[in-house]
Amino acid sequence: MLEKKRPRATASGKSSAAGKKPARRKYADTATVREVFTRLRAQNPEPRGELEYVNPYTLLVAVVLSAQATDAGVNKATRALFAAADTPQKMLALGEDRVRDHIKTIGLFRAKAKNVIALSRILVDKHGGQVPRDAASLEALPGVGRKTANVVRNIAFGEPTIAVDTHLFRISNRIPLARGKTPLEVELGLLKIIPQEFLLHAHHWLILHGRYVCKARRPECARCVIADLCTSSEKTV
Ligand code: SF4
Repeated sequence: MLEKKRPRATASGKSSAAGKKPARRKYADTATVREVFTRLRAQNPEPRGELEYVNPYTLLVAVVLSAQATDAGVNKATRALFAAADTPQKMLALGEDRVRDHIKTIGLFRAKAKNVIALSRILVDKHGGQVPRDAASLEALPGVGRKTANVVRNIAFGEPTIAVDTHLFRISNRIPLARGKTPLEVELGLLKIIPQEFLLHAHHWLILHGRYVCKARRPECARCVIADLCTSSEKTV
């Protein structure tokens, strides 16, 4: 477990002899990391994302649509959209106006409809209508950044990637597991410290923990299975 170092009191009441705060460790220790994931796995051995999809292409579209939107809101819109178009060819045939109509309940729907059509065009023209597996090709698609590419590579292709969303970023810094100022720093830190056996599902476990237990405003520490391993100052138990 990460230990909080107590600042040494000085006559002035300031911390440590040099007046500096003690250095914070960037990563949780190996035993803590292993125990965190052992418990999250025991609680939910086969975690699943909450976006609905029927193949890698619809997964990609759903993740693109989910930026700054809830999974439930995206699912509501995509049920009819994917019934009408579950391949890039069908999406192109449907056309931007009708895609926009299907997703108009989702934030930023105009830009997202444009991206869905543009990425479908690239999939057809450059990838034989298939979703590419490699990060560079995915990130070259309109509306697809590193996080989206990591989600698709993990869920559709079983790659042990860590997609850092707002929940994961918050709780990795909070518990902490790997501290970082940017999602990329947290991602690289987690990839470094999480044992191989947990990597495939790690981002799901952390996202679900952040979404339902270790919430942004009021973390539900009383029902948290890793409370004794957490050293957050926001902990309430
Ligand atoms: S104890 Fe509280 S702050 Fe720590 S991980 Fe659990 S829910 Fe989050």
